[in-house]
Amino acid sequence: MANLPVYSWRLAPDGLATRRQLRSLGLRPGGQDVVAQLERPRRRRGPMVAYLYRLDRAKPVRPMTTRKAAALAKANAARRTCPQCRRDAGYVIPASLGMCNPCAYPDEQRVA
Ligand SMILES: [Zn+2]
Repeated sequence: MANLPVYSWRLAPDGLATRRQLRSLGLRPGGQDVVAQLERPRRRRGPMVAYLYRLDRAKPVRPMTTRKAAALAKANAARRTCPQCRRDAGYVIPASLGMCNPCAYPDEQRVA
């Protein structure tokens, strides 16, 4: 990232935005390269640096696809499934137990 134009904090040219600014507009860099950087001087430390992207090349934030949502739901279901009894516990199996509560504490379950 050598030879990038460097602007001071409030003097960035129009049409450029930081990743955070893009995000607040519902946009993302969309694979484009950084085109410039902003520097804000700080006391006793190096300047704070932010990278700038071109607004006209930014893309809308991708909404979650149904395929991705399905994969996520499947992953969550797997995390809720007890490896002992193979039932959906209805909650994520705690890693400390490694199984659902009825499997981990069968005695207590009988009393209850
Ligand atoms: Zn179980």
